[in-house]
Amino acid sequence: MIRLENITKTYKSGGTVTKAVDDVSIQVEKGSIYGVIGYSGAGKSTLVRMVNLLERPTDGKVFINDIELTSLSTGKLQKTRQRIGMIFQSFNLLKTGTVYQNIAIPLKLTGVPKKEIEARVDKYLEIVGLSDKHEAYPSELSGGQKQRVAIARALAHEPEVLLCDEATSALDPDTTESILTLLEQINRDFGITILLITHEMHVVQKICHEVAVMENGKVIEQGRVVDIFSKP
Ligand code: ADP
Ligand code: ADP
Repeated sequence: MIRLENITKTYKSGGTVTKAVDDVSIQVEKGSIYGVIGYSGAGKSTLVRMVNLLERPTDGKVFINDIELTSLSTGKLQKTRQRIGMIFQSFNLLKTGTVYQNIAIPLKLTGVPKKEIEARVDKYLEIVGLSDKHEAYPSELSGGQKQRVAIARALAHEPEVLLCDEATSALDPDTTESILTLLEQINRDFGITILLITHEMHVVQKICHEVAVMENGKVIEQGRVVDIFSKP
């Protein structure tokens, strides 16, 4: 479903060359929850941003369902990207828009008709438990509620893949638990494949089926979570 083949990302700035990701290959099965764990600076964020080509790999190939994203023209890439949702540590909501607008505007931009937009906003706000917040502004919401809006915004495009970039790192432990439970529910109910990055072992232990451990741009270990991190 998601296949990264020998991807490398090199940054050059001034005289310094940084290999943020160094020859990484990962395969994420359809319908699974895959975690990438590592310390700060390991290359996790660069890696996840290459899955939807927010960052272009310097080398290597990215496949989603056997479509090679790295070989697509810009127009085709836009279409395929709509099948990949993403959520972030800092939520990335539009501060000047209501919850409704935050979900509706991106749908409008991809050409979804108005009636359908309204139906999807209702449906996905209900799924994330925020049916009473259509007219709220992000500043009126807690961190956990903001992340729920971001999840509803991603789900509203009915994606096959959800990328999570440190999605619970800004949240307290109880809120983290509730967001992870929501991600598990989405994975189970819609079969959405989830690729998440985190620096927190308990996140991987709670919801991931498989894991890759990154260090200095390289994957140093990968496999089933039960084999790699057996619970104490
Ligand atoms: P992580 O998400 O694991 O903290 P990152 O992918 O953010 O790691 O960073 C990996 C390495 O790449 C770090 O050394 C970081 O400083 C470097 N890096 C990341 N983005 C850039 C960039 N845009 N320009 C230069 N170096 C970068
Ligand atoms: P059906 O084939 O009857 O639509 P599904 O299980 O595929 O059954 O979908 C059930 C509901 O879940 C549908 O209303 C659909 O819009 C929604 N759904 C399915 N896949 C996704 C997805 N990837 N993201 C969000 N919603 C989805």
